[in-house]
Amino acid sequence: MEIALIPALADNYIFLLYEPEQKIAAVVDPAQAEPVLEKLHELGLNLVAIFNTHHHGDHIGGNTKLKKLFPNLVVYAGAKEEGRIPNQSVYLEDGDLIRFCDVVAQVMFLPGHTRSHIAYYFPPEKPQQPGNLFCGDVLFAGGCGRIFEGTAAQMFESLDRLRHLPGDTKIWCAHEYTLKNLHFALTIEPGNLHLQNRLKLEEIKRMQDQPTIPSVLELELQTNPFLRWDQPTVQHVAGSDVPVKVLAKIRAMKDSF
Ligand SMILES: [Zn+2]
Repeated sequence: MEIALIPALADNYIFLLYEPEQKIAAVVDPAQAEPVLEKLHELGLNLVAIFNTHHHGDHIGGNTKLKKLFPNLVVYAGAKEEGRIPNQSVYLEDGDLIRFCDVVAQVMFLPGHTRSHIAYYFPPEKPQQPGNLFCGDVLFAGGCGRIFEGTAAQMFESLDRLRHLPGDTKIWCAHEYTLKNLHFALTIEPGNLHLQNRLKLEEIKRMQDQPTIPSVLELELQTNPFLRWDQPTVQHVAGSDVPVKVLAKIRAMKDSF
Protein backbone atom coordinates (compact mmCIF):
# COMPACT_ATOMS: atom_id res chain seq x y z
CA MET A 1 0.00 0.00 0.00
CA GLU A 2 1.28 3.45 -0.93
CA ILE A 3 0.28 6.65 0.89
CA ALA A 4 0.01 10.11 -0.65
CA LEU A 5 -0.40 13.20 1.50
CA ILE A 6 -2.71 15.87 0.08
CA PRO A 7 -2.79 19.32 1.73
CA ALA A 8 -6.29 20.83 1.93
CA LEU A 9 -8.02 23.90 3.38
CA ALA A 10 -5.76 25.99 5.64
CA ASP A 11 -3.92 23.26 7.54
CA ASN A 12 -5.63 19.90 6.87
CA TYR A 13 -4.07 16.80 5.40
CA ILE A 14 -6.03 14.24 3.41
CA PHE A 15 -4.38 10.85 2.95
CA LEU A 16 -4.78 8.78 -0.17
CA LEU A 17 -4.05 5.08 0.30
CA TYR A 18 -3.51 3.23 -2.94
CA GLU A 19 -2.37 0.08 -4.62
CA PRO A 20 -0.49 1.18 -7.77
CA GLU A 21 -0.83 -2.13 -9.64
CA GLN A 22 -4.53 -2.64 -9.00
CA LYS A 23 -5.11 1.12 -9.50
CA ILE A 24 -7.37 1.23 -6.44
CA ALA A 25 -7.50 3.98 -3.81
CA ALA A 26 -9.14 4.81 -0.49
CA VAL A 27 -9.12 8.24 1.09
CA VAL A 28 -8.88 9.16 4.77
CA ASP A 29 -10.92 12.20 5.84
CA PRO A 30 -11.53 14.02 2.55
CA ALA A 31 -11.88 17.61 3.74
CA GLN A 32 -12.56 18.57 0.13
CA ALA A 33 -13.25 16.55 -3.03
CA GLU A 34 -11.25 18.58 -5.56
CA PRO A 35 -7.67 17.92 -4.37
CA VAL A 36 -8.55 14.22 -4.04
CA LEU A 37 -9.89 14.15 -7.60
CA GLU A 38 -6.73 15.81 -8.87
CA LYS A 39 -4.51 13.24 -7.19
CA LEU A 40 -6.67 10.32 -8.39
CA HIS A 41 -6.39 11.67 -11.93
CA GLU A 42 -2.65 12.23 -11.66
CA LEU A 43 -2.06 8.65 -10.47
CA GLY A 44 -4.78 7.03 -12.60
CA LEU A 45 -6.66 5.55 -9.64
CA ASN A 46 -10.22 4.44 -8.97
CA LEU A 47 -11.63 5.45 -5.56
CA VAL A 48 -13.31 2.58 -3.72
CA ALA A 49 -13.55 3.76 -0.11
CA ILE A 50 -13.64 6.70 2.29
CA PHE A 51 -12.29 6.14 5.80
CA ASN A 52 -13.69 8.89 8.05
CA THR A 53 -12.29 9.31 11.56
CA HIS A 54 -14.99 11.68 12.87
CA HIS A 55 -17.80 14.01 11.82
CA HIS A 56 -16.15 17.46 11.86
CA GLY A 57 -16.67 19.42 8.62
CA ASP A 58 -12.98 19.58 7.78
CA HIS A 59 -12.88 15.76 7.70
CA ILE A 60 -16.06 14.95 5.75
CA GLY A 61 -16.43 17.98 3.44
CA GLY A 62 -15.68 15.95 0.31
CA ASN A 63 -17.81 12.88 1.10
CA THR A 64 -20.95 13.79 -0.84
CA LYS A 65 -19.23 14.89 -4.03
CA LEU A 66 -16.92 11.88 -4.07
CA LYS A 67 -19.84 9.51 -3.51
CA LYS A 68 -21.68 11.14 -6.41
CA LEU A 69 -18.70 10.66 -8.72
CA PHE A 70 -17.89 7.12 -7.48
CA PRO A 71 -21.34 5.62 -6.69
CA ASN A 72 -19.87 2.27 -5.65
CA LEU A 73 -17.52 3.64 -3.03
CA VAL A 74 -17.98 2.48 0.54
CA VAL A 75 -17.98 5.08 3.33
CA TYR A 76 -16.60 3.81 6.64
CA ALA A 77 -16.95 5.61 9.99
CA GLY A 78 -17.61 4.91 13.64
CA ALA A 79 -20.77 3.13 14.80
CA LYS A 80 -21.58 5.97 17.20
CA GLU A 81 -21.68 8.72 14.56
CA GLU A 82 -25.48 8.35 14.33
CA GLY A 83 -26.11 10.07 11.03
CA ARG A 84 -23.35 12.66 11.27
CA ILE A 85 -21.27 11.25 8.39
CA PRO A 86 -22.64 11.95 4.90
CA ASN A 87 -23.22 8.74 2.91
CA GLN A 88 -21.93 6.46 5.68
CA SER A 89 -22.41 2.83 4.68
CA VAL A 90 -20.38 0.89 7.28
CA TYR A 91 -20.63 1.46 11.07
CA LEU A 92 -17.38 0.41 12.74
CA GLU A 93 -16.76 -0.81 16.28
CA ASP A 94 -13.50 -1.07 18.17
CA GLY A 95 -11.52 -4.09 16.96
CA ASP A 96 -13.28 -4.38 13.59
CA LEU A 97 -11.02 -5.29 10.69
CA ILE A 98 -11.25 -3.66 7.26
CA ARG A 99 -9.63 -5.12 4.20
CA PHE A 100 -8.25 -2.71 1.61
CA CYS A 101 -6.46 -4.40 -1.31
CA ASP A 102 -4.08 -6.82 0.36
CA VAL A 103 -3.85 -5.06 3.71
CA VAL A 104 -6.07 -5.12 6.76
CA ALA A 105 -6.71 -2.16 9.05
CA GLN A 106 -7.74 -2.46 12.68
CA VAL A 107 -10.36 -0.02 13.94
CA MET A 108 -9.62 1.71 17.25
CA PHE A 109 -12.45 3.51 19.06
CA LEU A 110 -10.77 6.61 20.53
CA PRO A 111 -13.31 9.01 22.09
CA GLY A 112 -12.28 12.32 23.65
CA HIS A 113 -12.03 14.85 20.79
CA THR A 114 -15.54 13.67 19.87
CA ARG A 115 -17.66 10.95 21.41
CA SER A 116 -17.51 8.79 18.27
CA HIS A 117 -13.94 9.24 16.98
CA ILE A 118 -12.15 6.23 15.51
CA ALA A 119 -8.66 5.62 14.12
CA TYR A 120 -7.42 3.18 11.49
CA TYR A 121 -4.29 1.23 12.33
CA PHE A 122 -2.50 -0.71 9.60
CA PRO A 123 -0.03 -3.12 11.24
CA PRO A 124 3.30 -3.70 9.46
CA GLU A 125 2.87 -5.54 6.17
CA LYS A 126 6.28 -7.22 6.59
CA PRO A 127 8.66 -7.52 9.54
CA GLN A 128 11.01 -4.51 9.78
CA GLN A 129 8.39 -2.24 8.22
CA PRO A 130 6.51 0.31 10.30
CA GLY A 131 2.76 0.23 10.79
CA ASN A 132 0.63 3.25 9.90
CA LEU A 133 -1.88 4.97 12.13
CA PHE A 134 -4.51 7.35 10.77
CA CYS A 135 -5.72 9.05 13.92
CA GLY A 136 -7.64 12.13 12.74
CA ASP A 137 -7.72 14.68 15.55
CA VAL A 138 -6.83 12.44 18.52
CA LEU A 139 -3.05 12.65 18.49
CA PHE A 140 -1.14 15.39 16.67
CA ALA A 141 2.57 15.81 16.07
CA GLY A 142 3.61 17.40 19.35
CA GLY A 143 0.03 17.72 20.59
CA CYS A 144 -3.45 16.26 20.84
CA GLY A 145 -6.96 17.25 19.81
CA ARG A 146 -9.19 19.48 21.90
CA ILE A 147 -11.65 17.69 24.12
CA PHE A 148 -14.95 18.75 22.56
CA GLU A 149 -17.49 16.02 23.24
CA GLY A 150 -15.64 13.55 25.41
CA THR A 151 -14.07 13.70 28.85
CA ALA A 152 -10.45 14.04 29.89
CA ALA A 153 -10.66 10.45 31.16
CA GLN A 154 -11.73 9.25 27.71
CA MET A 155 -8.99 11.25 26.00
CA PHE A 156 -6.47 9.83 28.45
CA GLU A 157 -7.55 6.28 27.72
CA SER A 158 -7.44 6.90 23.96
CA LEU A 159 -3.95 8.41 24.08
CA ASP A 160 -2.75 5.68 26.42
CA ARG A 161 -3.80 3.04 23.90
CA LEU A 162 -1.82 4.83 21.21
CA ARG A 163 1.22 4.94 23.52
CA HIS A 164 1.27 1.14 23.40
CA LEU A 165 1.53 0.78 19.63
CA PRO A 166 4.99 -0.16 18.29
CA GLY A 167 7.44 2.75 18.59
CA ASP A 168 8.16 2.91 14.86
CA THR A 169 4.48 3.37 13.96
CA LYS A 170 3.99 6.27 11.55
CA ILE A 171 1.49 8.81 12.84
CA TRP A 172 -0.63 10.32 10.07
CA CYS A 173 -2.60 13.03 11.84
CA ALA A 174 -4.99 15.33 10.03
CA HIS A 175 -3.50 18.78 10.70
CA GLU A 176 -0.27 20.72 10.32
CA TYR A 177 -0.22 22.11 13.88
CA THR A 178 3.27 20.88 14.71
CA LEU A 179 5.23 24.10 15.24
CA LYS A 180 2.59 25.68 17.44
CA ASN A 181 2.32 22.45 19.41
CA LEU A 182 6.08 22.27 19.94
CA HIS A 183 6.23 25.91 21.06
CA PHE A 184 3.63 25.04 23.67
CA ALA A 185 5.46 21.83 24.61
CA LEU A 186 8.59 23.86 25.32
CA THR A 187 6.70 25.91 27.89
CA ILE A 188 6.00 22.62 29.71
CA GLU A 189 9.44 21.04 29.30
CA PRO A 190 11.94 23.77 28.42
CA GLY A 191 14.86 21.48 29.29
CA ASN A 192 13.82 18.57 27.05
CA LEU A 193 16.70 18.19 24.56
CA HIS A 194 14.73 15.91 22.22
CA LEU A 195 12.08 18.60 22.08
CA GLN A 196 14.55 21.41 21.41
CA ASN A 197 16.15 19.41 18.60
CA ARG A 198 12.83 18.44 17.15
CA LEU A 199 11.61 22.01 16.96
CA LYS A 200 14.71 23.00 14.95
CA LEU A 201 14.22 20.14 12.48
CA GLU A 202 10.49 20.75 12.06
CA GLU A 203 11.10 24.48 11.55
CA ILE A 204 13.43 23.69 8.67
CA LYS A 205 10.80 21.44 7.07
CA ARG A 206 8.18 24.18 7.31
CA MET A 207 10.56 26.83 5.93
CA GLN A 208 10.99 24.55 2.92
CA ASP A 209 7.20 24.14 2.72
CA GLN A 210 7.49 20.42 3.60
CA PRO A 211 4.92 18.68 5.80
CA THR A 212 5.98 17.55 9.28
CA ILE A 213 3.60 14.60 8.88
CA PRO A 214 3.92 11.66 9.25
CA SER A 215 5.44 11.68 12.68
CA VAL A 216 6.75 8.57 14.45
CA LEU A 217 5.37 7.35 17.76
CA GLU A 218 8.81 7.06 19.38
CA LEU A 219 9.46 10.75 18.74
CA GLU A 220 6.06 11.65 20.15
CA LEU A 221 6.83 9.71 23.31
CA GLN A 222 10.00 11.79 23.71
CA THR A 223 8.55 15.20 22.88
CA ASN A 224 4.74 15.32 23.10
CA PRO A 225 3.60 16.50 26.55
CA PHE A 226 0.18 14.88 26.00
CA LEU A 227 1.85 11.46 26.08
CA ARG A 228 4.24 12.31 28.94
CA TRP A 229 2.01 12.42 32.01
CA ASP A 230 4.45 10.11 33.83
CA GLN A 231 7.37 12.56 33.55
CA PRO A 232 8.20 14.45 36.78
CA THR A 233 8.66 17.78 34.95
CA VAL A 234 5.24 17.52 33.31
CA GLN A 235 3.64 16.43 36.58
CA HIS A 236 5.25 19.36 38.36
CA VAL A 237 3.84 21.86 35.84
CA ALA A 238 0.40 20.20 36.07
CA GLY A 239 0.51 20.18 39.88
CA SER A 240 -0.46 16.51 40.09
CA ASP A 241 1.00 13.05 39.64
CA VAL A 242 -2.36 11.51 38.73
CA PRO A 243 -2.08 10.76 35.00
CA VAL A 244 -5.63 11.79 34.02
CA LYS A 245 -5.32 15.03 35.97
CA VAL A 246 -1.96 15.77 34.37
CA LEU A 247 -3.46 15.32 30.91
CA ALA A 248 -6.55 17.41 31.76
CA LYS A 249 -4.44 20.25 33.14
CA ILE A 250 -1.97 20.33 30.24
CA ARG A 251 -4.87 20.23 27.76
CA ALA A 252 -6.58 23.15 29.55
CA MET A 253 -3.34 25.12 29.45
CA LYS A 254 -3.02 24.48 25.71
CA ASP A 255 -6.63 25.62 25.14
CA SER A 256 -5.64 29.12 26.22
CA PHE A 257 -2.08 29.11 24.81
ZN1 LIG B 1 -12.02 17.43 14.68
